[in-house]
Amino acid sequence: MDIERCIKLASEEHYCPHCQQRLSCCEAPPFHVGDGLGWGSDIFFICLNDECSLFTKSWDEFEERYGHSASCRYMLLPGEKKGSPMMVGSTIAFTGSIIDVETLTKQGQRYECQKKYTEQLETCVAENNLQPALCLVIDDLADLDARKRACDLLVDINSLDCIDPIRNHKFIHGEIRMKAEMAVKQLLSNNHKQECPFCMEIIKSQAKICMHCGKDI
Ligand SMILES: [Zn+2]
Ligand SMILES: [Zn+2]
Repeated sequence: MDIERCIKLASEEHYCPHCQQRLSCCEAPPFHVGDGLGWGSDIFFICLNDECSLFTKSWDEFEERYGHSASCRYMLLPGEKKGSPMMVGSTIAFTGSIIDVETLTKQGQRYECQKKYTEQLETCVAENNLQPALCLVIDDLADLDARKRACDLLVDINSLDCIDPIRNHKFIHGEIRMKAEMAVKQLLSNNHKQECPFCMEIIKSQAKICMHCGKDI
């Protein structure tokens, strides 16, 4: 789904003609449960007010006419002036698919950030810029291929500053964690360093005593 379009639609204000409450903007399910037809839109507006007259009165109507428990909510498709009643089987139907502008905006920003960092991978070694590679490595929501590439580039960027953030990160993907740990190992060895097994501080690889915790290695 196009995030920009989503934010634009979710910011629109539409009101229910039955109760005058503002309609919620929702993501459409993949198919229409009622008639098996498509929705005609991936996003729609719906009155989720449980006090709405259309909603409260339709329970009885459905019960009388069809003998099963259902009701209607007012629904409006994007770009249309007039909406129509839509059948719902329960009070909570569609309440889980409300599009939240704030969450969506944050998602959009994070996506832009990931995109920027992925582009910067091309030049980060030449520019000695650790940030894009490191941020991608420790961003569990970023694209996996970009993260794998970032792990490899850490060794070329050759900055030991990436070690602490990697050690402090709880990786969700085992493969990325392994790649990141391999990069750390390679970096330490390339720079003739090691991590003290007792305090985890970085020390010279030939050190016999840790200069931080004083323990024999
Ligand atoms: Zn209403
Ligand atoms: Zn130590």
